[in-house]
Amino acid sequence: MLPRLLILTLAAALARAAPQNAGELRDIQDAQELYKGAQVLRVEAVSEHQKEVLRKMQEEQKLDTWLNPAAGRTHVDIMVPAPALDVVKDQLRNVSATFRVMISDVETAIKDENPSLSEEEEEELAGRQGHRFTLQSYHRVADIHGYLDYLAQTYPDICSVQTIGSSVEGRPIKMIKISSSKSRSERATKPAFYIDGGIHAREWISPASVGYIIKELTENRDSNTFADKVDFYIVPVVNPDGYEHTHNGVRLWRKNRKDASKGRCAGTDLNRNFGYKWGGAGSSHDPCQEIYAGSAPFSEPETQAIRNFVSNLGTSVRAYVTFHSYGQYILYPWGYDKKVPPDYADLDRVGKKAAQNMRQVGGASYTVGNSASLLYAASGGADDWAKGGPRVKYTYTIELRDRGRFGFLLPAQYIQPTGREAFAAIKTISEEITTSG
Ligand SMILES: [Zn+2]
Repeated sequence: MLPRLLILTLAAALARAAPQNAGELRDIQDAQELYKGAQVLRVEAVSEHQKEVLRKMQEEQKLDTWLNPAAGRTHVDIMVPAPALDVVKDQLRNVSATFRVMISDVETAIKDENPSLSEEEEEELAGRQGHRFTLQSYHRVADIHGYLDYLAQTYPDICSVQTIGSSVEGRPIKMIKISSSKSRSERATKPAFYIDGGIHAREWISPASVGYIIKELTENRDSNTFADKVDFYIVPVVNPDGYEHTHNGVRLWRKNRKDASKGRCAGTDLNRNFGYKWGGAGSSHDPCQEIYAGSAPFSEPETQAIRNFVSNLGTSVRAYVTFHSYGQYILYPWGYDKKVPPDYADLDRVGKKAAQNMRQVGGASYTVGNSASLLYAASGGADDWAKGGPRVKYTYTIELRDRGRFGFLLPAQYIQPTGREAFAAIKTISEEITTSG
């Protein structure tokens, strides 16, 4: 027994550590170097001059922006590598910009976020029938996809799993359909609800919360009878390559893994790559930027997979929710400009109802509003495409917890409360699309 367990543990440890090639090894070393002693600063940039200095610093020092300014808040969260800390802080003081340290050591925050399993927990998971997914920690793609396959086997009446495409590196993009509809005609009378997570690799709370939603709709279905009136199509990890990369050591990777050998200039921001008003404000044509829109609309296999799948579902899709982090926002189109769609009052009303219910189950407050006016313009987003392309009525981007204390490095103990909130939003929107027809 012991040798087998030892081998399993060793294999798991190796899989966790194994980089794919020399370039990836260098990326990992660079990232670990970058995170050591790095801090996340929250900077209040109020005057135009302060903003200008900040912008310049972000560019010159290649600072990773975690959170951009938004309506009602003037702060920016930036990650500053240890060697640049003195210079950056001095320059901020020079222009009298106030700032405070949100995360005093990124490397430590990464270590604390997702504690590795104890030997007993590892043993329990290894001995468990069917799958390794839990809500106690952040899991690898294999565990999340394994959970979908387990559900399809265990609840064949309501679940099926389909691979809707492959990533740049050839990983499957899996979708679970959860529906009690028995026939095509029954399906035709029900609204469809598309949900996804994990477009941005580093936002781990997103796939984890989508996992929570999937569990509620299947294993806890008896307490969620509203689900019988909706057909759910759920993709927990849209960007499996990027997500695996964040687990392999480059924790704060955001984009997909196109041209992986190009170091920090690799990858496309999938949430700038959708083909509605592509390439405009809030996206970049420079591959080295975090918001690189890609070489053309839908240039990436991951966004193509979503486009093809949702387009094929046709007009039955009444709701589209894509989960991100962080900031606690419920956002509706448009993102490309400070404009709203003609039916924005409906989106606003349902968004506010969702926020109310989220607060009731979890306690966190979420701000509701239009993407571009509440945050910043961002063209090529999935939500704009869903609204502007296939014309899905209730289209939202939900930025999950938190508001910046941990940022992207939200400890695993927050998965359940955040998942509860995410599920409350899904329930609210489901009830809306089943009653408003
Ligand atoms: Zn995101």
